[in-house]
Amino acid sequence: MLQGIPLPGRTRPTAREIYRAEIGEKVDECIPRHRWEKGKDRPGTLICPRCHAISVQKRWFLDEDRFQKLSTAPGVQLVICPGCLRIERQMYDGVVTLRSHLLLRNKAQALAMIRHAEDRARITNPFSRLASVVDHGDEIDILTTTCWLAEQIGKAFHHAFQGQLELQPLSDEKFVRVYWRR
Ligand SMILES: [Zn+2]
Repeated sequence: MLQGIPLPGRTRPTAREIYRAEIGEKVDECIPRHRWEKGKDRPGTLICPRCHAISVQKRWFLDEDRFQKLSTAPGVQLVICPGCLRIERQMYDGVVTLRSHLLLRNKAQALAMIRHAEDRARITNPFSRLASVVDHGDEIDILTTTCWLAEQIGKAFHHAFQGQLELQPLSDEKFVRVYWRR
């Protein structure tokens, strides 16, 4: 049974809601507290104290040097960015399962590969984030805030270690399940 907040006017949960309930998500739909949270970004210069993303002219990007300068500049607003809000509200678009005995011997490399995939994905989309990485020895379970990042992690492991890669996107919804095993 779907745990979560039922949407008004609908009794049956969508496939995406069921998937998300399975991975322990508590909140799927939220009423935006600000207009800009719906995609109409807030004007002015904003910085996110959690991930150091910057928004200028309504566009979010990463630039650590600039963040450091802006963090003490007058007129700059501190705002939790949409990427960090997605993590806080547990709104995940990707779930990755990596399973192989190779993970036991190569754990440091595997965790570095996961971080590296996030670093690269964030260059083009600051909201591509790892929401959680859980190490179970020969299995690592990962939740991501974008489909893109989940797919990139699976592809990186397939490229490095071969094995079997399955990408299972939901046909009409923004959500992907990625399995890699060897
Ligand atoms: Zn942030």
